Amino acid sequence: MSRLVVVSNRVADLTDPVQSGGLAVAVKEALEARGGLWFGWDGNTVPAGTRIPPKITKVSGITTVTLPLTQRDYREYYLGFSNGVLWPMLHYRLDLVNFKSGYLKGYKRVNSKFADALSPFLKPDDIIWVHDFHLLPLGAELRKRGCRQRIGFFLHIPFCPPEILAAAPENEWLVRTLFAYDLVGFQTRTDLDNFRRYVEVHGGGSTDSIGVTSAFGAKTAIGCFPIGIDTDAFRAMATSPEAKARIRDLRKRILPRQLIIGVDRLDYSKGLPDRLRAYARLLEIYPENRKAVTFMQIAAPTREDVEAYGDIREELEQLSGAINGRFGDFDWTPLRYIHRHIPRKTLAVLFRESQVGFVSPLRDGMNLVAKEYVAAQDGRNPGVLVLSKFAGAAETLKEALIVNPYDVDEMAECLQKALGMPLEERKRRQKALLATIRKHDVHEWQENFLNALTNTPIATDRDDSDAVRARDATLLPHGV
Ligand code: ADP
Repeated sequence: MSRLVVVSNRVADLTDPVQSGGLAVAVKEALEARGGLWFGWDGNTVPAGTRIPPKITKVSGITTVTLPLTQRDYREYYLGFSNGVLWPMLHYRLDLVNFKSGYLKGYKRVNSKFADALSPFLKPDDIIWVHDFHLLPLGAELRKRGCRQRIGFFLHIPFCPPEILAAAPENEWLVRTLFAYDLVGFQTRTDLDNFRRYVEVHGGGSTDSIGVTSAFGAKTAIGCFPIGIDTDAFRAMATSPEAKARIRDLRKRILPRQLIIGVDRLDYSKGLPDRLRAYARLLEIYPENRKAVTFMQIAAPTREDVEAYGDIREELEQLSGAINGRFGDFDWTPLRYIHRHIPRKTLAVLFRESQVGFVSPLRDGMNLVAKEYVAAQDGRNPGVLVLSKFAGAAETLKEALIVNPYDVDEMAECLQKALGMPLEERKRRQKALLATIRKHDVHEWQENFLNALTNTPIATDRDDSDAVRARDATLLPHGV
């Protein structure tokens, strides 16, 4: 079996699988099976001109190679182009794109640095798997340095419609660089269709019956690989003896109230203000829920150096204050808004004890919280998942109550329906949802992607043909 090389912006802490979550576990599992290497940023910044060689560590047969970014790289590549341009744009939020000259240059520079630092570690028959929007042009950079190994790319976040992408600086270059990969994977059919439409319109593209797309005079295989969670491990966390003790404790604190739970990073893509408004609307139009229900919204701090994130934080603090001021009483706090990271074990318990999991992103690549909520439920008395139709997870979690996250009244009605749903209906929905997330878990996702990459016909074509070399030459990024 070929050695696997994983490249992502950050490398997970391999010594703490419980806290790192399913993705890290699945990637680690694949790396262990193939004796692999994981490459990425170490999370530190250093002043420009500081020369620090990559740090090499070995943990349970896996080599991690990490390097710091300069403060300028951090500003331009990470905060600027990745989180200030690509993140909002690919989440359909052109209004939040903050494009400054220098960002794109910084993005190209860091991708080029990553390729320089990674190249000496590569062996001829490695399989390389690049993750996410920070590293779109990394494949092209590696090809430029003579890398002829199979390289796959997986986009964890949405791929927006071509009409939106067309507004991005050098958007054609961005998409064209993807054709340096042998396989490009997306979360959902919607993302795949958006990509196809883009390359049809802008690159004269077409896709054949086996999923090979030709455009810009090049070819890549494309596919849809919806990511899952480590379902059984998460379930085990929610049902351990320690979890049971915590549940008893929690029950004492929340009294006999019904609990609605929301858990997200505090990101504008998660639809948090309208989620809070929907809860307020529920209390307004169905007053029987007052004192009978509590909504706990946990919103972990994230990307606080990016301007748009400060705005959403302020908005939520105001909204939560207003809701508690309007509806609260000395013996009832209607909304518990918690702006903190919470240990995953605690999240599992909170999910299990909540009658409603409220997941309402305006746009989300997949949304793993929705799957974690289902995994944690007690099949004898399960809660109800209320899920945005714009989360990637809605393509498969059909038995959730699907809502429009922009429609506050509709969400309030759905919450009311979820809170009053008969036991038999809850059981039926939960059984189907759990079967889906068990079958399509993160292990299956990782295997499917790597099998597709191993078998893609594109890389087989590559073997030293002049035509392919010429093709790679056309993919070189401009201006780097
Ligand atoms: P995203 O990748 O956009 O953050 P996902 O829902 O796909 O959204 O994944 C988020 C992950 O982070 C989940 O595994 C979830 O349990 C975890 N998470 C979210 N909020 C918190 C929090 N406040 N504390 C700890 N973990 C969190």
